[in-house]
Amino acid sequence: MKKKIAIIEKIHDDGIKLLENNNDYEFKIINDSSEENLIKILPDFDACTLRVSRLDEKILKYCNKLKVISRHGVGYDNVDLDYVRKNNISLLITATANAVAVAEHVIYMMLSVSKSINQYDQEVRLGNFKKNAQNIKTFELFNKEILIIGFGRIGQNLIKRCKGFDMNVKVYDPFVDEKTILNHGGKKITNLEEGLNKCDYLSLHVPLTEKTKNLIDFSKLKIMKKNSIIINTARGGIINENDLNKALNEKIIFGAGLDVFNVEPVDIKNPLLKNNRVLLSPHSATFTEECKSRMSIETVKNIIDFFENKIDKSMIVKL
Ligand code: NAD
Repeated sequence: MKKKIAIIEKIHDDGIKLLENNNDYEFKIINDSSEENLIKILPDFDACTLRVSRLDEKILKYCNKLKVISRHGVGYDNVDLDYVRKNNISLLITATANAVAVAEHVIYMMLSVSKSINQYDQEVRLGNFKKNAQNIKTFELFNKEILIIGFGRIGQNLIKRCKGFDMNVKVYDPFVDEKTILNHGGKKITNLEEGLNKCDYLSLHVPLTEKTKNLIDFSKLKIMKKNSIIINTARGGIINENDLNKALNEKIIFGAGLDVFNVEPVDIKNPLLKNNRVLLSPHSATFTEECKSRMSIETVKNIIDFFENKIDKSMIVKL
């Protein structure tokens, strides 16, 4: 019997093509991922792919056939982990597909904020060519210190790019040993406050958990350097947004680049949207054409590999 795969929210065609000519599977693209619709439709499927919609007990308790959830990405804070663990549903991630795209996005944000790109661009468009240009503060990455919090796939891709800019890299990750960090050209630190106090750039690459929620709050921001820049491409909530806005307004730090938010889509009334010390993107770090293709292929291939008992261990979330 053919296995049925629900593609919850459309993915890049390259992944879909793996299923189109495959006689072992049939698939359906589900564009309406409301709780109501998923309760109605999902119980009929053996597997599903998942982008940003939430899958929790309210939906999953109806899905008795579901054997595997394949995340289009590596974060899985939108899945009810307790439920999938207890009910023996496997959870897969696209472990090799997106680290490069996110690392590049961090570099783009670090450069853009450091070079006050938005302001320069605006000035030229307004016909102000060099009128205010001398008063716009910009910085170099050269010889600066970056603190990377979380040294997994993305952190390790980022360090290579930072070394290319001759940056000094400190790493805070209690779960990665000193030698691994040293081999990548970084220095392990164990005292987070000390690291925050010395760094010029801070980039976050930890999952959102009870432990990392509000990891960077006002008490941490206020010990950072006046010209420091924070980049968050991990998850909203790891930095306390109100505290960040306050720190920027009080010029405690220089600027920030945010790809992720507490609430997504971000609330139009969120004060950070009016703060010109912040560069924003809509959780789009992985939206390069190359990465969308890689992620869709890996998401679908993971399901096929799972049913054919040849799934790579690195793709399986240990629950
Ligand atoms: P990963 O699992 O490879 O690495 C995470 C690292 O964080 C691990 O090395 C772990 O030891 C470390 N860590 C966990 N808790 C920590 C703590 N309290 N303090 C310090 N370090 C801690 O994950 P990854 O692939 O590098 O991705 C990191 C996160 O980035 C994901 O969880 C996801 O939420 C986010 N992400 C965002 C996007 C985006 O589109 N913006 C794309 C991919 C991933």
